[in-house]
Amino acid sequence: MNLILLGPPGAGKGTQAKRLEESFGLVQISTGDMLRAEVKAGSPIGLEARAIMERGDLVPDAIITAMLANRVGQADAANGFILDGFPRTVPQAEALDRMLAEKGIRLDHVIELKVDDAALVGRISGRYTCVQCGAGYHDTFKTPKTIGVCDNCGGAEFSRRADDKAETVAARLAAYHRQTSPLLPFYGAQGKLSAVDGMAAMDIVFAALSSIVKP
Ligand code: AMP
Repeated sequence: MNLILLGPPGAGKGTQAKRLEESFGLVQISTGDMLRAEVKAGSPIGLEARAIMERGDLVPDAIITAMLANRVGQADAANGFILDGFPRTVPQAEALDRMLAEKGIRLDHVIELKVDDAALVGRISGRYTCVQCGAGYHDTFKTPKTIGVCDNCGGAEFSRRADDKAETVAARLAAYHRQTSPLLPFYGAQGKLSAVDGMAAMDIVFAALSSIVKP
């Protein structure tokens, strides 16, 4: 089973991808996480991507598609993957179609998480993760049971993404509407698109996704 989760920043793609990963034995492939790892490592890709990401713009298609091509070819993706944050432009989607056709891999579903813009800024600006294990939290919607201690690993150090500031979020939303939303008709025309109400509670969203993913 190979899926794409589509939706604006803050729609819950990462959170839901992690749950689908655990429940269905799929692997989450997040181009945003891959880029943040490159930035952290100070690699040539990271050096090029850093300022672009901090502005809230999209990293050039050529860099992203090369990075993704490597990743889907790795052994752990053979049981199925969830693409989170890729593709984000029509050229990326076309490159993905070519890449999958060459490898004989089928794309099963493209699922849009629908969320109102007004809700996104609040969702994004409160989020943070555990440095040790990557578990995600939110100042309002998901605090750890003991404030300052990760529920998952007991870690006490947390970080916030550099691009989760309110100024950058507006640019990221604009990039979504201008460059990524044309993917909805693109995949609609392929008959692969379905939509889930991303404004619902996390468990309800997960149940709706599961009913699409289950054979
Ligand atoms: P995300 O974690 O998916 O919100 O991505 C964070 C940032 O990484 C985005 O705002 C972009 O600057 C960059 N990025 C991630 N995935 C892509 C992609 N598929 N194409 C272009 N830029 C991307």
